[in-house]
Amino acid sequence: MLELATPVQYVKGIGPRLAAVLAGKGIHTVDDLLHYLPFRYEDRLNPRPIAELRPGEMACVIAEVRTARLFRTRTGTPMFELTAAQGRARLHCLWFHGTYLKDKFQPGQRVAVYGKVEEDRRGEWQIIQPQIEVLSSPGNDQGSDRAEHNSAAAVEVGCIVPIYEAAGNLSSRWFRRVIHSALENLTAEIPEPIPKSVRARMGLIPARQALSLVHEPDASESLENLFSFRSPAHIRLIFEELFSIELGLEWKRRQQKGQTGIRFRLDDRVRQVIKRILPFHPTTAQKRVLKEIANDMEKPFPMRRLLQGDVGSGKTIVAFQAAIIAIENGYQVALMAPTEILATQHFLSARRILEKAGYRIVLLTGSADEGHKREIRRHVAHGNAQLVIGTHALLEETVEFEKPGLVIVDEQHRFGVLQRLKLMRKGADLNPNGRTESAVPLLPEPDVLVMTATPIPRTLALTLYGDLDISIIDEVPPARTPIVTRRVSDQRSPEVWEFVRQQVAGGHQAYVVYPLIEENQERELKAAMQMYKELSRRIFPDLKVGVLHGRLDAETKDSTMRFFQRGEIQILVSTTVIEVGVDVANATVMVIEHAERFGLAQLHQLRGRIGRGAAKSYCILMTSGKVSEEGERRLHALARTNDGFEVAEFDLELRGPGEFFGTRQAGLPTFRIANIIRDRQLLEAAKREAAAVLDGPNAELTQQEIDLAIAYMRTRWQRQFGLVEVG
Ligand code: ADP
Ligand code: MG
Repeated sequence: MLELATPVQYVKGIGPRLAAVLAGKGIHTVDDLLHYLPFRYEDRLNPRPIAELRPGEMACVIAEVRTARLFRTRTGTPMFELTAAQGRARLHCLWFHGTYLKDKFQPGQRVAVYGKVEEDRRGEWQIIQPQIEVLSSPGNDQGSDRAEHNSAAAVEVGCIVPIYEAAGNLSSRWFRRVIHSALENLTAEIPEPIPKSVRARMGLIPARQALSLVHEPDASESLENLFSFRSPAHIRLIFEELFSIELGLEWKRRQQKGQTGIRFRLDDRVRQVIKRILPFHPTTAQKRVLKEIANDMEKPFPMRRLLQGDVGSGKTIVAFQAAIIAIENGYQVALMAPTEILATQHFLSARRILEKAGYRIVLLTGSADEGHKREIRRHVAHGNAQLVIGTHALLEETVEFEKPGLVIVDEQHRFGVLQRLKLMRKGADLNPNGRTESAVPLLPEPDVLVMTATPIPRTLALTLYGDLDISIIDEVPPARTPIVTRRVSDQRSPEVWEFVRQQVAGGHQAYVVYPLIEENQERELKAAMQMYKELSRRIFPDLKVGVLHGRLDAETKDSTMRFFQRGEIQILVSTTVIEVGVDVANATVMVIEHAERFGLAQLHQLRGRIGRGAAKSYCILMTSGKVSEEGERRLHALARTNDGFEVAEFDLELRGPGEFFGTRQAGLPTFRIANIIRDRQLLEAAKREAAAVLDGPNAELTQQEIDLAIAYMRTRWQRQFGLVEVG
């Protein structure tokens, strides 16, 4: 008998060699194999008579092969044509470049054909590039394994047949057979990780039944439900996966609350300090989130909070206020930024705003010389520096704090959930506890505040940040005029440059961004530099034009940024290094070259660099050449709204969750079956149910069920994400 945990090589039909192939697909156990779901189903219970086909329908036809031949079109393309028939009714199947099919078919074979029906020039039915499967061959049905063959054949016709994505040489049909055999030999009882009361509320069928039915649906199952992953079997399996993710996140969240944190005091004295340094009146939203943060900080367990707010919503000052609370309580604060430019900018504004309070603030960047860095690290270790600002890499790895109280991670959207969990742990590692052989009394866990500028759609937030409490700044600071976004072809660039000139003449500044695609760094950088030359020498020879890109050394980047901040550079040509965080209120124009190549989130981030002052701002999306349909939709969406949440929702829909954050964002949990767009509602339900389960036993829920669910969740998390520390 097979169990779910049995390695696949023990399934009949899979030996060590094929097991290795499957391992490459992430299929190691029977459980993995049974979660390799069909991507569609064929109705071979009611296959279509050829005579009744309709043009345009997706049809499954079972017929007999009459002729099969390879020929060339007039242009020389090799074509494979197979004609299948039911009596006199004929169906022609055509494959472009079908040479590989040459010896696969013989007259007399029964085949199942699936595809879109069309009428050909002769007025007969044809399907181009159909999917096809040989069901039986004349004379081929005898043999030693005949009985077995028949049992397998029973899953090929006369039922709703699952179609799997082929993997290398392993065809859909092969998967069908081994999965059938796995199901036949699977123990009757398999562990049920979802508590009974949850199953009842959600109307879920048992796990064992779901695994059978998803691969071998009952004849009575609605095809529509099967196609849309909404059959009871699908719902059960999808819910199970989401439930386990949400259980893990919720568990982690509660566990963090169980640790000893710092009980910061927020008294009138601290309030006074905060009040004194504020350079402006905070918005209502800023006040509200600060209160949420301060509440957390006063609690005896560590804060794990996400501060979410669109670009320009004013997160920095909130972070500084939190820093004051920690520092006034005698603790040190670490502020991590994703880039040196941003770290430096935070350092400059921290000095401007916080030094009034007499704090010692240091900047630690990778490019500073070793001696200087050592010196700073020493200050930090001795508690001389109260606010330490640096890049993530730097603060994570090389700094020991004397008394860390608060870790702030800025622009978190560049990291996925897995990286973040690591970062958090590292953040907590700033705590000397872990390192010293513990003669020292244990220090409490520092608070962690992560900030993100990407407004994450709620569904994603649930999965990505389910272990965090969330604060949202949903209001922009006053006296902002909405940004006007226009899309123009680069053939009209002279007009664009003229417009930039006018804005500069009016005392404003402009960005011209040449977005860099990472894969093409060298070439793109060249193009950007070319652009810079063109702009500085030919188009704006009379203006001060600066350039900024990732390859410049830190000092040059620094001074360029400073010049721009002081208005001594009027036009800043840049690659996407300015995407995050850069804050120059006087800049009112953002010209983005090749806007069609970039993702919505990134364009929105770039646009967020302007519109930071009272003057009207303009974002000009320049496109080059023909723009794809999807590109058009992106640009259109951006021109239509300034609302980051709307942009994000749209982006998620357009690109799907996997790519939502671009290629850098590898840390999204990958699901075996679930799709957080399609399964939004199940996700919400899973979150609710997970929380209820962790609330503890009650009349309908036993401790044993809870333990089982948690144990199952742990193995899932470990296997799927390699995160041993969860739970
Ligand atoms: P982000 O949330 O993108 O990090 P910042 O913190 O950089 O935004 O703030 C954007 C700009 O708005 C900064 O110039 C900041 O000084 C300014 N700002 C923030 N809050 C307010 C406020 N309440 N009133 C006026 N200006 C503000
Ligand atoms: Mg910021």
